[in-house]
Amino acid sequence: MLTCQRCGIRPATIMHKPSGLRLCSQCFLDYIVERVEKEVKRWNMLKPSETVLLAVSGGKDSFVLLDVMAQIHDPSKQIALSIVEGISGYNREEDIEKMKKYAKERGIDFIRTSFKEFIGASLDELVKRSWEKGVNISPCTYCGTLRRRIMNYYARILGVDKLATAHNLDDEVQTLFLNILRADRMRLIQSHPKAPVLSEKIVRKIKPLRKIYEWETALYSYLKGFRFQETECQYIYLRPTLRAKIREHLYRIEDAEPGTLLRILETMDSLLEKVVDLHSNLPKLPTCKKCGEPTSYNRQLCKVCELLEKIGFY
Ligand code: SF4
Ligand code: ZN
Ligand code: ZN
Repeated sequence: MLTCQRCGIRPATIMHKPSGLRLCSQCFLDYIVERVEKEVKRWNMLKPSETVLLAVSGGKDSFVLLDVMAQIHDPSKQIALSIVEGISGYNREEDIEKMKKYAKERGIDFIRTSFKEFIGASLDELVKRSWEKGVNISPCTYCGTLRRRIMNYYARILGVDKLATAHNLDDEVQTLFLNILRADRMRLIQSHPKAPVLSEKIVRKIKPLRKIYEWETALYSYLKGFRFQETECQYIYLRPTLRAKIREHLYRIEDAEPGTLLRILETMDSLLEKVVDLHSNLPKLPTCKKCGEPTSYNRQLCKVCELLEKIGFY
């Protein structure tokens, strides 16, 4: 049997196609931790003295975020936040409890909240209301917009320095293409790790897993014995389709040319860095006239208020 190309001792069980390395399980796990740490340092995402809120769901990416961050940053400076959307059959109490247990075992505090607690309605209730009113907005739009609002709100009131999400490499490259196809220059700039923070009400977001493939987070979780949430969200089939199409194309290219996603993100990182530097003096964002949270330029209402108003929730 061939031996691992990193330790040269244990048998190789994993072919890491993007790097061409044959690895044993332990070296694969170490390799992921090293790459996350390198990316965190490269962009100065988190200084040793800084505190961070980890946004976690019950999925594999969240588990990897929790597990790796506990190894590379002082756990007492971290808090995990779980947001229950309120989707029947999907948000299971046992998954939340499991994540809480993992966090506690790693010395990380855990808090939970929900859409219901935050705005007074679950996602299911919002979607029902939207359908009744004939408003054609995907459940994922309500879900994503509210999650972002809640994460930032908690990061701000807890007074942490950074807010970490579990976006992986696949998510990041899909988002890049989405923004390119929509010619959304502002979002392209904002997706960069050095993007300016445009309001004192916004806590800087960091994405420590941005150079880790989705298949790697799945394998890492599996090797660590983490059994992730198997139930699918009932709204998954109503997801906006452009991202799904981009995802399909990217999988095919990556399969034929392993390492493509990494090369795309690295190239865009260096190209966008120059653009971000040129935009370091952008004016601060205006605030929503209804709730006082930051909103995009030239807007009166923020996205949350706009959505809730459309379905007569306000
Ligand atoms: Fe939310 Fe859409 Fe994901 Fe369901 S599929 S959890 S609605 S983003
Ligand atoms: Zn090895
Ligand atoms: Zn608002």
